[in-house]
Amino acid sequence: MYVIPLEEILAELRRLNANRVLIQSPEGLRREAEELASFLEDRGLEVTLYGEVNYGACDPADLEAKRLGCDALIHLGHSYMTLHLEVPTIFVPAFSRVDVIPSLKKNLEEIRKLGKKIALVTTAQHIHKLEDAKNFLETNGFEVVIGRGDSRVSWPGQVLGCNFSSARVKAEGILFIGSGYFHPLGVALATKKPTLAVNPHTGDAIWMAKEAERIIRRRWAQIAKAIDAKSFGVIVSTKKGQLRLAEAKRTLELLREHGKKARLIAMDHISYPQVEGFPFDAYVVVACPRVPIDDYENWGKPVLTPREVELLLGLTDEYKFDEILGAERREDEPLGIAVHGVGK
Ligand code: SF4
Repeated sequence: MYVIPLEEILAELRRLNANRVLIQSPEGLRREAEELASFLEDRGLEVTLYGEVNYGACDPADLEAKRLGCDALIHLGHSYMTLHLEVPTIFVPAFSRVDVIPSLKKNLEEIRKLGKKIALVTTAQHIHKLEDAKNFLETNGFEVVIGRGDSRVSWPGQVLGCNFSSARVKAEGILFIGSGYFHPLGVALATKKPTLAVNPHTGDAIWMAKEAERIIRRRWAQIAKAIDAKSFGVIVSTKKGQLRLAEAKRTLELLREHGKKARLIAMDHISYPQVEGFPFDAYVVVACPRVPIDDYENWGKPVLTPREVELLLGLTDEYKFDEILGAERREDEPLGIAVHGVGK
């Protein structure tokens, strides 16, 4: 199902003079990670598989690679994110082989309901098919806009679960191509525009408005549960691409200014069992926005995003999706030593 460019990866490793490599992979690409390890080992490289769970490019195992004496890291499944890395890192996005055009053809009449001028967004999995999709839609009379996005994404039109900057363009509606509900839901909540999600694997199309309403209702229920909380654990992530210390401190101060007790908690893998012993009434996760939204049912205490704390404290009444926005790129800013986009 996924294209792992073995020869290109090998060529990059040779170019880097890397002999000892660590391979990091999400759970869904464990088999591919092992196949890559065998391929590289047969060609004389020493390979270690990294077994910790990984959900995004925000969490590269570069420091672990360095500790293990590896001279390169291969990060499978996600596209390059601007981070300062400890060892040369080859990001290998997992591009899907599926053709997106049949699903667009099937749902053309539904897509027309978005309007004539539409924004097109997708995840890294289908980004290499975005130009095909744009051409197909333009041939069928649409004006298609693909937003550049900020420095957190690798390509125009790409969205992450924590960043919808490429969807913020002038358009009547947004067409998301991909599977899963979280990304299009975030697009709908972040842009407040009609959003249609077309799944190229199943051919299904889903309007996100109802889903967005349902999630907002659920989130308000979490906020209501936290209304009487007197003490808060404000969780900040130590993962490189999720570390939002300034935002966490701002949240901490806001809570304290409003008479709440608040304490900063630093964590790597954030889950309820790990904080269960702390005596706090509620938690705020200032890390990956997916943790409090996807995982809240597994928390024995109310768990909020920093945006939701503002609602709780009455500082705003508009529901805003939590996002991690990219930093402005400065001319003199080093881009780390990552190798970008192998396999596109
Ligand atoms: S912070 Fe969360 S949504 Fe963003 S890239 Fe990392 S895992 Fe994905």
